[in-house]
Order: sequence, then structure tokens, then C-alpha cells
Amino acid sequence: MIPKHLPQTLSGPTDIKVSQLDDRPHDECGVVGFSGIDAAAQLAFLSLYSLQHRGQESAGICALTGGEARVQKGVGLVADVFSADALKALPGRTAVGHVRYSTAGGSEALNAQPIVVRYAEGDLAVAHNGNLTNAHDLKKRLVGEGAIFQTTSDSEVIVHLIARSRESTIDAQVGDALSQLEGAFSLVIMVNEIMYAVRDPRGYRPLVLGSLDAGHVIASETCALDILGATYVRDIERGAVVRIEGKTVRNLPALPRAEHAAPCVFELVYFARPDSHLWGISVDGARRGFGRRLAQEHPVEADAVVAVPDSANSAALGYSEQSGIPFELGLLRNHYVGRTFIKPSQVDRDFGARMKYNPVREVLEGRRVIVVDDSLVRGTTSRSLVKFIRQAGAKEVHFRIGSPPVRFPCFYGIDMPSREELIGSRLTPDEIAEKLGVDSLGYLSLEGMLSVVSENGSFCDACFSGNYAAPLVDLDLGYLPGNHPIKC
Ligand code: AMP
Repeated sequence: MIPKHLPQTLSGPTDIKVSQLDDRPHDECGVVGFSGIDAAAQLAFLSLYSLQHRGQESAGICALTGGEARVQKGVGLVADVFSADALKALPGRTAVGHVRYSTAGGSEALNAQPIVVRYAEGDLAVAHNGNLTNAHDLKKRLVGEGAIFQTTSDSEVIVHLIARSRESTIDAQVGDALSQLEGAFSLVIMVNEIMYAVRDPRGYRPLVLGSLDAGHVIASETCALDILGATYVRDIERGAVVRIEGKTVRNLPALPRAEHAAPCVFELVYFARPDSHLWGISVDGARRGFGRRLAQEHPVEADAVVAVPDSANSAALGYSEQSGIPFELGLLRNHYVGRTFIKPSQVDRDFGARMKYNPVREVLEGRRVIVVDDSLVRGTTSRSLVKFIRQAGAKEVHFRIGSPPVRFPCFYGIDMPSREELIGSRLTPDEIAEKLGVDSLGYLSLEGMLSVVSENGSFCDACFSGNYAAPLVDLDLGYLPGNHPIKC
């Protein structure tokens, strides 16, 4: 059933125009925190480097230096934002870091995190991964009470809620603020030298605790611990508020429990790095499992299994293992294509894909090829890819997708286009096959995907099913995404 907040059909009358869903806040992010570790900012730089896939638009680090918060942040990749000198200017044993990808136009520098302020109790820094679903509602109240907002990011409400709390201790102020949030939040919060690691009650986004020397590290993914040689200690549980001060780690009262866990299955499908472990699951292992299951659900006779690199490599290996059809490197990806690359005006429509991928003719010519991708979103890249693969001489092209059709936008922190733009929402698999120009098309079923990871509990699959667990408060109240009714 399509939830009432969303357009019921893509062509019929709706109370929300599809186009108004285009400009949702897109908050794909990575966060890190360091407590009780020498040169914390330099290590934050390294760990953000390994979380670069979670956000390429801006990066920031705040360090507590001589009891005072200092911050360096800017637009661009981690390596562009920080020079060796900039990091040297951030000495200290406590630091918070953030990488962000936001397409909410034009405000990248403004919305770079961590958000750092000085309030009654001292210096406060917040780094947020996820998306609050009641940020407009909270913001309206806060603005009414006199709060002045400096960014357009939903995360800023957290700063105001802490600073305006009437509780008397810092722990209680943080708890008070968190109890008012809805939606998805994995947070690192620094108040002076105290660090808090927090996950929302459904646990949409990942967050792990590691140890290094005499201190502790918090990070979105385990790959950020690996790069430091830090030891994985445990995941931050959903709903947990963990207080960390150097060696000492203490659980504060948890947030009200949600009935079901809802970690985002799309992290396993596409977003996280395959060398990370999320919620006790190897991302590579999950993707191979999706690929194996896909081969069972959609077998086809062919000569080679080819991945759309790099995100579909694991799923393609799984398909190959299950089917016995050899995995071949039929597509190469250029890793040096920046987001800011300027497109010359006299180029064909496939230019974007052509810049990124090139077929290997020797692998494809005269062969029946199974092309495995991790997900189909707009379908534009895939359409171009199929064209190149055919031009390289493939005899048959069978497209296989390691997840179900993406049919709904994400309100919990993954950048997805509007329903109108999602090919799986507009067209049936047969129509998509025709549009892509493939000989056959097969999606992994929702049941099949979930069965691969079901041992690990329940998941959020809203982008596939339209089943939104955390209430979409702002949408219900008519605060349409991208619409900023609050003047501030
Ligand atoms: P397309 O169907 O042309 O929009 O592109 C699908 C490809 O985009 C897949 O191969 C995925 O690897 C990748 N992808 C999936 N989700 C996202 C996302 N949220 N942001 C960027 N790329 C994505």
C-alpha cells in the first residue's frame, strides 16, 4: 500500500505534486568522533578519507584545542578541504568530523558540518548522518521562540534543542534534545571534551565504536577504523546514547524504543563500502548473497557475468558463483571523474556514462553477457551502458539487478530522485527491458533480498516497498520537502 503522504498514482490527482518531492533534503553523510587520542584531527582526516563515498560535497573537522573548539570545513573532497597546515592548527585529543553530500542547491558551504556553536555550557559540535522527518515542525517552534537559524540543514535543530534545554546537566540537555527528534539520526555530539554517540530508535544509519591507544573512535563504518588500525569494539545500538570521555564509555538512558529495528537495507545494496561490516553483516557478504539469490531467481544461459563496477562487483561475483558462469571484467570504470567535471556542449547524451565506463571489446564481442548492477534508479546510466556493450559486439545482453525496483523516495538520508524520475515507479520490468534495449531483465525480489539478511533482523526497505516506519511528520503537516515556509 502506498502511504497516504505520497502521490497515490503518478498521473492521477494527488494532494502532493510529484515535482514538489524533487527538492527534498538529501543528506548522505559520514561521521567520525575521537576522544582521548593524540592528534585527533589528523586521525579524523584519515578516517573521513575512507568515508569519502558517503559524501563528496563538503567536509569538516572540529577539534577541541586548549579547551576551545576550532573548526575547519569547506566545499569539496576531504583531500581538498584540509592541508597539512590546516590540520596542524587543530591539535588536541578530542575531534568530530563529517563528510556530506547534499543536492539541496547552492547551500553547500553554509551547510557543511560539524555545526559548531558556543552555548551556556561551553563549546558544542554536532555531526549528523541521516535525515530528520520533523525538522520543519521543530524549527517552526524554535523560530517562534526566538531561535536564529544559520543554515538550511535539518541538523541545526539539534544544536538549538540542546542549547535551549531547561535541563541542568549536559547529559540531560542532550537527552532532552534527542527525545524530540523523529526520523533517522546517527550522531556524534561533542560538548567540551565529552563525546556522545547516538543512534535513532530504529537505527536507520550505521554507527560503530572502536578503540585506539587509550581512547575511543566513533565512525559511520568499520572501514574508517581499519584505516587507523583501531579495534572494533561494538555497534552503537539503536536508540542508544553513549557518553564517551577518553577511556570511559557509559550508556545513558536510551531513547524510547521503537517496536522494530529498521537499519537501511540500501546501505547493504549500494551505499556502504564492501569492506565494511554493518550491524554485524559483511557488506561484501550481503551483496554476494544478493547476487547468488538473483541467479536462483533469474537464471539465463550465457557466456560471461559482467559487473557494473564498482558497486555491483560483489553481487556479480555472487551471481557467477551460483550460476557457474565465469565472472569477467567487461566494463572498466574511470575513478578520476570528478563531480564538477564540465561537460562540453557538443557531446552525445551518453557522455556522462562514457566518461565513467568503457567496455572491454575482447570480453564482450560475440558473447552472451549477463550484466549485473546493484540497483536501477533513473535507468539513464544503464541505458547508455547497454548501448556501449552492444557496440562492443555482445550477442545478447541480459540485465540483472541485485535489488528490487526502487519505487519510492527516501526520507531517511539516502539521495533518491522523486517518484516521477524513478524508472521502477513509472514502468513495469517488461517496459524497462524494452527501454534499456536488453534481451532480458531480472530484479531480485524483495522477499529474496530480505531472506539473505533476515538472520540479522528487520530492515527499512521503504525505497522498495513504500513502507515508511518513522513518521513523516513534516510531510503530514504539509511542510513539503524543499519548501521552506519558515522565514529566518
Ligand atoms: P541509474 O539507474 O542510471 O540512475 O543509475 C543506477 C546506478 O546508480 C546504480 O548502478 C547504482 O550503483 C547507483 N546508485 C544507486 N543509488 C544511488 C544514489 N542514491 N546515489 C548515487 N548513485 C546511486
